[in-house]
Amino acid sequence: MTFDTAEIFPITAGIGPGDHLTLGGCDATDLVAEFGTPLYVFDEDTLRAVSSEFVREFGSRYPSTKVLYASKAYIGLALARLLHEEGLGLDVVSGGELAMALAAGIPAEDIYFHGNNKSPAELEMALNRGIGRVVVDGFLEIEMLDALAGACGMTQDILLRVSPGIDPHTHAKTTTGILDSKFGLSIETGDATTAIRQAIAAPNLDLVGIHFHLGSPIFELEPYSIAIDTVLTFLSQFISEGLDLREFSPGGGFAIGYLRDELPPAVGSYAEVIANATKASCARLGFGEPLLTVEPGRSIVGRAGVALYTVGAIKNIPTVRTYVSLDGGMGDNIRPALYDSRYEAVVANRMSDAPAETVTLAGKYCESGDILVKDIALPVLQAGDLVAIPASGAYAPSMASNYNLNPRPAIIMVKDGVPRLIRRRESYEDLMAWDVDD
Ligand SMILES: *Cc1c(COP(=O)(O)O)cnc(C)c1O
Repeated sequence: MTFDTAEIFPITAGIGPGDHLTLGGCDATDLVAEFGTPLYVFDEDTLRAVSSEFVREFGSRYPSTKVLYASKAYIGLALARLLHEEGLGLDVVSGGELAMALAAGIPAEDIYFHGNNKSPAELEMALNRGIGRVVVDGFLEIEMLDALAGACGMTQDILLRVSPGIDPHTHAKTTTGILDSKFGLSIETGDATTAIRQAIAAPNLDLVGIHFHLGSPIFELEPYSIAIDTVLTFLSQFISEGLDLREFSPGGGFAIGYLRDELPPAVGSYAEVIANATKASCARLGFGEPLLTVEPGRSIVGRAGVALYTVGAIKNIPTVRTYVSLDGGMGDNIRPALYDSRYEAVVANRMSDAPAETVTLAGKYCESGDILVKDIALPVLQAGDLVAIPASGAYAPSMASNYNLNPRPAIIMVKDGVPRLIRRRESYEDLMAWDVDD
């Protein structure tokens, strides 16, 4: 049996016996009985289906494509292994993400290292482990990486991240490719030109390609085609200066559905626009077709993840608002507080009950901004009900904090009716484990 927000839930979601939400063949109330709340549930079938969709949709239109999962959306050992099995490489943005990827057994050559302020220690770690590519973002990094690679007696393959000055019409805190951004070497100011020349001249760096990333989530297709044409046109002047464009990356940022009436383009539509724009611009400008790397993060894990919470205190302020408090909040999902992100929600233990009132789902953290869903029509809720928030897989667990010293939630993977714990719930002992008091 299906339900009206099913399109933004994992592909295996349904309604099972007792009118309960089911995920990956598991009854949500059983999962909560076993693992507690707040609980993050990842559906393995959705993760594999979406990953293979990216590989297939891009590969069928532009055979020389590599799909790199942007780990910052959420990474753990089990997820890294699963995505690598599906043929994806990984983007990392810190020594910690790199360590996790390597611990999961991802070959270093399948890892790309991003970031606007990598430390010397992080760069040294990347070099020592034989990382595939460093995506260099700034003049200091060109100098530092060149010197470090020289000291190790190696030549490191790099991409340069440029900023094309294009607005993809997303939230101000998640736009990255405009002039006023800390990310990328600006084409407009001339920094990109200077950096490309420095990188070509650096004796211990091999500039194999160029990268840009516009921001996220991008619901429109046109910013990609405009940016691809802008960047490739800009790059054509460097062919005579020795730029050999073997790789080209338009980044990630592909949208997912958070709300039932705001659905994103299909993966195939993004692939169509990106493949066509790359092929057309390369043909026009005299570039051979480079390896295309795309970097989906949110779109790989977002829909696969569902957050489950238990309803607690309910406060009604007549004619103003009813606050229904859940046992999680901004500590496990800061997106509503940080980006004004909006979500749907369902009552997982009474899926077919009709909406009866408009409420605000609040968290348990000591901040008035700790709201998960503002003004949503739901059945009348009672303490003990189970609320499921879909599209929670990306940038929720990965941005989780211990604010108010709440332990971070457990994460499970479900498939064919079997749940598997992939990250245990933190304990109070964990919260004190890093303190030193002798
Ligand atoms: C964050 C990021 C991505 C992924 O963005 P999503 O919106 O999660 O797809 C890709 N590339 C780079 C360089 C990023 O910083």
